[in-house]
Amino acid sequence: MIEVKQLHKTFGKLTVLDGLDLSIKSGGIFAVLGPNGSGKTTLIKCILGMVIPQKGEIIYDGEEIIGKSDYRNKINYMPQIANFPANLSVIELIEMVKNLRPKEARETELISLFGLEPHLDKKLGNLSGGTKQKVNIVLAFMFDSNLIILDEPTTGLDPIALISLKELIQKAKNEGKTILVTTHIMSLVDDIADEIVFLLDGKIYFKGSVPQLKEQTGEAQLEHAIANLLRKQNV
Ligand code: ADP
Repeated sequence: MIEVKQLHKTFGKLTVLDGLDLSIKSGGIFAVLGPNGSGKTTLIKCILGMVIPQKGEIIYDGEEIIGKSDYRNKINYMPQIANFPANLSVIELIEMVKNLRPKEARETELISLFGLEPHLDKKLGNLSGGTKQKVNIVLAFMFDSNLIILDEPTTGLDPIALISLKELIQKAKNEGKTILVTTHIMSLVDDIADEIVFLLDGKIYFKGSVPQLKEQTGEAQLEHAIANLLRKQNV
């Protein structure tokens, strides 16, 4: 579904992606992991066309996409930090996003899943971080898309909302969709990820399943397996 070839991205003197190669097949949950600043968001933004790399290729569904924009309508994206207009109400935002795509949206069941009904008329600027995050999840899941990209979707979520999010991700996978997710919650990765894509020094340092990573590092717990992976690199 996604082929990334020799991707280079620098910000001034800082090299963030250094000839990164990555192949993501269609269907399944891919956890994009790596230390802070390792380029996870930059990689995601390159795939979304929000950051333009200096070199490399990104092929999505057989089409080279760098410099194009139409393909983005086929991707659902939840950013790490959503800059909501503070004066808009929750329902106004949902309606506005609904009108951006000529697709059927299924916002009602998602609003109910996250208990957002009492918040619909509130201004976005007055919401708690967790409630904003729930609104963000509704926006990311309300359209039917084959690729769903979630950048730190768990931030600020209460345990019940976290379970609902997990179920949504798993349901999407069962429908044959591809989900790319960055998260610091290792229990989430352990529970749902089919593959881990671990970024380090601007490249993919490890790609494989959770059991493979545990076996390779000789660690039974995912946190320890990742710490072990990093220790080998003296990170
Ligand atoms: P991660 O998501 O893994 O934490 P990011 O992709 O957000 O990492 O950032 C990687 C590095 O690139 C960081 O050092 C960050 O400060 C830098 N960076 C990201 N975006 C920009 C930008 N627009 N301008 C300058 N530096 C940036």
